[in-house]
Parts: sequence; C-alpha cells; structure tokens
Amino acid sequence: MRILLVEDEKKMATFVRKGLSEQGMSVDVCLDGDEGYNVARSCPFDLIILDIMLPGRDGLSILRNLRREGNNVPVILLTARGEPFERVEGLELGADDYLAKPFYIDELIARVRTIVRRASGQGSHLYQVADLSVNLSSREVRRGDRLIELTPREFSLLECLVRSPGRVLSRVQICEKVWNYDFDPGTNLVDVYVQRLRSKIDKGQAVKLLHTVRGVGYKVDEDS
Ligand code: CA
Repeated sequence: MRILLVEDEKKMATFVRKGLSEQGMSVDVCLDGDEGYNVARSCPFDLIILDIMLPGRDGLSILRNLRREGNNVPVILLTARGEPFERVEGLELGADDYLAKPFYIDELIARVRTIVRRASGQGSHLYQVADLSVNLSSREVRRGDRLIELTPREFSLLECLVRSPGRVLSRVQICEKVWNYDFDPGTNLVDVYVQRLRSKIDKGQAVKLLHTVRGVGYKVDEDS
C-alpha cells in the first residue's frame, strides 16, 4: 500500500510515517503544499493524508484541484485544534474522512485500512466488519476465509445491518427493509431470523458481530 503524506510539521510527519511503515505501508512525505500537490498528481497512490494548513498550497485547495482533475484517490484530511476547518466543506470537496490532531496512530491506521478497503471494493459493493465480508454484487458472505451460505432472506437481513455498522436497527425498521411490509408487533419473525443468522456468522467465533441491544433492536458491530 503506497501512501502520500503531506504534512509540514516534521515531528508529526515522522510519527505518522513511522507508524504506517510499521504496518507495512510505504509512505512518501512532502513537507510543503506545492510539492505535495505535484507529487500527488504525478504518482499513483492508494491514499493521501493531507494536512490542511500548509506552506504553499493548503490541503483543501490540493484536494479541490485533484478532484477537479478527476483524481479520485482516497483522501484523509488532518485538522489541527484551533485552525478553522469546516468538516462539511472538506467532505463536500471529496475528502473520504478527516482526523483531528492530536490522534492515536492506531486510529489513523484503522481509518486508512477502512478507506482503502472501501475504495478497492468500489463497484463490487463490499462491506466489511472485522473479518466478516459481505459482497452485495456476488452475494458472497465470508468470515475470514470461510464461505457462509445464507438464504435470500437471511442475506437481506445481514445486508441491512452491515450497510450501517454500529447502528442499531429496530425490529420495525428491519421488518420494513427485509420483508417490505408493516410491522406486526405480535410476530417474532425478526428475532427468529436474527437467531438463524447469528448461528451462521457468529457460532464458534471468538468475536461476536451480531448484537442484541435490549429493548431497542439489533446491530452488527465489532464491539458489543
Ligand atoms: Ca500544518
């Protein structure tokens, strides 16, 4: 994985480069916005980490220009405390994510992985939670390398949960999405299907992914 880091604070640049290199990622560093922009345009990267306040061209203007040129490389913006940053503006310009300084390197690594995975899964509609991967195009579900067979209804249920990992969906919401009809409060249909799905994706696994949130509904998440 090849990453471009555009960051003018040398200490920060060294810290990030070291952390990402330890994960086997190769990191090019530019300390200046103009140089960063030129390098970003001339070499293919899997991802760019872009500080906003830079000498020369600033991060937002680099991003704006890259997108204008049709360059869709994934971008994470770095923002510093006290610096004016409009989250919405950054995301509207086409940033994939942003991270406020100071941050833990693990947080950055996790986001880099998620974004690169998402970008490489584009077109195949791949969703990933921990080692669970759900491919909406091929309708293939795996935990790690193990292929999991689901019925169409079980797949729809899993699909609506993995589309927003960590978000709790109520039985009513699930029923509407998966069964397309109004919820009958007397039925335990959703619970029955959740149990079936759970036994297929979580049984025998150390990390459980399908969670019941008592009195609210269900979610798919790495943390319980
Ligand atoms: Ca800066």
